[in-house]
Amino acid sequence: MSKKYKSGDYLRLSKEDAKNLKSDESISIESQRMIIESFCKFQNIELVEEYVDDGFSGSNFDRPAFKRMIEDIESGKINCVITKDFSRLGRELYQTGTYIEDYFKDKGVRYIAINDGYDSLNDNDNMISMKLAFNDYYLRDISKKVKSALKAKKINGDYIGSIPKYGFLKDPNNHNHLIIDPIASLVVKRIFKMALEGYSCYSIANILTEEKIPIPIVYKKEPRGAAVKENDGYGIWRHQTIRDILTSEMYIGNMVQNMFEKTRYNSKKIHSNSPEDYIIVEDMHEPIIDKNTFNEVQDILRTNAKVKYNRKNKDKYLFSGLLICKECGHKLTILEKKNKGNNSHYTQCSQYTKKGRYGVCNIHRINYNLLEEDLINIITNVASEFLKEYDAKSLTEEANLILQEEITSIQTSIDLLNREISKYDTAIEQLYMDKVENKIPENIFDNLLKKYDNELKNATNKKIQLEDDKNTMLEKVEKLDYDSCARCLKKFLTFKHPSRNIILELVNRVEIDNDKNVKLFFNFNEISSFVR
Ligand SMILES: [Zn+2]
Repeated sequence: MSKKYKSGDYLRLSKEDAKNLKSDESISIESQRMIIESFCKFQNIELVEEYVDDGFSGSNFDRPAFKRMIEDIESGKINCVITKDFSRLGRELYQTGTYIEDYFKDKGVRYIAINDGYDSLNDNDNMISMKLAFNDYYLRDISKKVKSALKAKKINGDYIGSIPKYGFLKDPNNHNHLIIDPIASLVVKRIFKMALEGYSCYSIANILTEEKIPIPIVYKKEPRGAAVKENDGYGIWRHQTIRDILTSEMYIGNMVQNMFEKTRYNSKKIHSNSPEDYIIVEDMHEPIIDKNTFNEVQDILRTNAKVKYNRKNKDKYLFSGLLICKECGHKLTILEKKNKGNNSHYTQCSQYTKKGRYGVCNIHRINYNLLEEDLINIITNVASEFLKEYDAKSLTEEANLILQEEITSIQTSIDLLNREISKYDTAIEQLYMDKVENKIPENIFDNLLKKYDNELKNATNKKIQLEDDKNTMLEKVEKLDYDSCARCLKKFLTFKHPSRNIILELVNRVEIDNDKNVKLFFNFNEISSFVR
């Protein structure tokens, strides 16, 4: 290499490529630059100019920096072009080939595609000879160098990604520095506020989706954002996105990088680093969220994760999902506490878990194992009593009789009310007559009218209520199905250890109040009278 080359490095990142940045950092502009710079240092090639087409597709050559590069070749400013690989120059084979085979050669321009091992100087057997000079080992070495160089920048707290975290913008004066995005930061603040108020990641995601707040990739106009069609193009917020936001230290001013890493230089495989490998540099930019709020939210998320863990093991507990807090109506969670090899299980109001710190509800803690035992005993007793009467065939008639009696008594009350209503109707009518005939003074008329009117309204309301009750009773009579209830209870009694399915079939809910009183509700009205 006697001839001294004045080289230009050509860097290109299409919007399409930008999608894959997370999984392949080596295609970022920064990486392309580092690979080329370290190659040039190694080969003693002088770089005189850089050409960057950020956001341009390789399918055509209508790109500003590419055009400038051609001008510089024409003017003789550069006589060597270096790209990371062929595809950076262009993806359209015929035209790209024309540039490499014809144009560059005509102009006496040396062309190097580093990762493809191509150097036009070694043209006769280019691929092979180049590969020998520039072997796998060296590529790995470069890859390592690039990695460590990027890491060094990360350790400095310099922002090296191409699209900043939602809520931030690149500082126009310093591309390695972030500033607050005045619009998106409001959404971030709101997400943290909702999390503090006890909203789950799922419900926050739903609320933002319903309000048609654009999801981050749509808001930031990321290339793949354009493909979003759901929710009128605003996108659907995922709970994972909310969780990512809620747990990102970026929002308290820390620069967090190195979350993903490629395993080998030419590998497409990428792994998520564990949090210990993250490179975090504190106080690198203005925070959106204060540290106290952030820490409180982390506490809430940790508690919720515990609850969720138990939800996964739903079938582990016969009554999970059926236990209800009497005070606030929310579900009671069953938590596991490991104690020197002894696992104890206890209940806790889920609302208390979320908002207990704000004085909402009480813990409602009782020993789950004892509760389960009690509940099974209650159901066993109810089942045996019910089946005794069911088998004696007295049950159906008796229950219907009771219901019929109730219905009759309700009807009697309705009849009474009807009589009362017509009495007030007549009284009001008479009142108007008396007034027309000047039989009563104005003020007495007003008072009496008000009084009768009220009585009439009360009686009418009562009647409506009773008719409702009567209809419910009638429905009950129709709905009572002693046979299927008996079948279910027999199934329950057959097994020494009832299955969760039988429990779900039988039990509607179990209410537990602050004084640890337990009330069992069945799915069968037929059993109600047997529960004490
Ligand atoms: Zn509660």
